[in-house]
Amino acid sequence: MATRRISIMGATGSIGKSALDVVRHANANAGQTFQIVALAAGSDAEGLAAQAIAFNAEIAVISDESQLPTLKTLLAGTDIEAAAGETAIAEAAARPVERMLAAIVGAAGLKSTISAIRAGNDVAIANKESIVCGGKLILSEARRRGVSILPVDSEHSAIFQCLGDGRSLEKLTITASGGPFLTSSLDQMRMASPKQAAAHPNWSMGVKNSIDSATLMNKALEFIEAGFLFDVEGERLDVIVHPQSIIHGMAHFTDGSVIAQLGAPDMKTPISYALGWPDRVPTVVDRLDLATLGRLDFENVDETRFPAIRLARQAYAHGVQATTVLNCANESAVSAFIAGHCGFLDISWIVEETLNRYFSGNMHGIACDTLEEIALLDRFSREMARDVLEKTQRRTGG
Ligand code: NDP
Ligand code: MG
Repeated sequence: MATRRISIMGATGSIGKSALDVVRHANANAGQTFQIVALAAGSDAEGLAAQAIAFNAEIAVISDESQLPTLKTLLAGTDIEAAAGETAIAEAAARPVERMLAAIVGAAGLKSTISAIRAGNDVAIANKESIVCGGKLILSEARRRGVSILPVDSEHSAIFQCLGDGRSLEKLTITASGGPFLTSSLDQMRMASPKQAAAHPNWSMGVKNSIDSATLMNKALEFIEAGFLFDVEGERLDVIVHPQSIIHGMAHFTDGSVIAQLGAPDMKTPISYALGWPDRVPTVVDRLDLATLGRLDFENVDETRFPAIRLARQAYAHGVQATTVLNCANESAVSAFIAGHCGFLDISWIVEETLNRYFSGNMHGIACDTLEEIALLDRFSREMARDVLEKTQRRTGG
């Protein structure tokens, strides 16, 4: 494979660091596979500068403008450019590359993804929240520019690998580990702390994604992500609990065939696939040993303890406005939970109440066709989620 220029937005996070591990190993073992152009982060100037120097990036961009002087000091004496702010990240994402890895957490990643697509850069997309809010926009812009969108989320990478040309597809299944509370009672879940919720049994991820995995909101977002990415209606999307996280996704065809993708639960495999596609890049992950593993288990989602999938089905059936509300209410509720302002079970409850307000007519009429409209609905949804939380606190004296 000829050397491929890549940029990583969200370089200092869990996905960003794994991607740089993939790059380091590929460059050391398979010739100069990747060249880093732009790296971006939120506020971790030290981590970003160290990465930019180690990979000889052209430019390092930090979202938090107060960190620019630190970033500049750390990069002094190199020829790496330093910049700050949301617009600078969007501009960096538009620098010509063969692939931009979208690994910022939350809807905050949408703007740079759209900027990369409009510049004609293929996008390897980990940032599921941006698909849940901006799926329609991302895919229509990508089609218009002839840009490829390569899924990084493991379930979607699996489906992408199983789908073939997509003909004769009956349905898609994504698997869920069930998270840390798979066997916990509702009472145990009610008392769960952010630390317990973030302790995922199989995957190592950023805090927000880990808490989403505990509520199964991660799977709810992935259900919607699969719908948008593969253009499949909700009735043809299934979620199944598979505690070992070995099968990541499956495509079912009209002749009864089911094609599944298997692999150790390590994001380096789907990251490597999305960066290397259509080639495969040698990657250091545990190799599967099915005989040692012995068995693979499956069960249905318990929707009483985990209402998130039901909410996703409901929102996805309504369309991208409702999925945006679901995502932004969840981001707001997860922040409140981490800050100690609400309990674990309140997260799904806040999302459900915010969605109910949306369905009952509030905020209708805002489309999600442009970045500005999505940003407006994002703001309203977070405000409404905060209002739901405040009313709960007044009611419960919390
Ligand atoms: P992390 O929290 O570990 O990392 C988030 C990254 O985004 C960091 O580099 C952070 O910078 C940066 N960031 C945060 N806010 C902003 C902002 N406003 N502008 C620019 N950069 C910002 O998250 P993960 O790596 O776990 O997840 C990243 C995305 O990938 C999420 O959308 C997640 O859902 C998705 N994903 C993650 C998986 C995983 O295994 N981790 C699996 C599949 C999908 P800083 O370090 O400075 O805060
Ligand atoms: Mg996933």
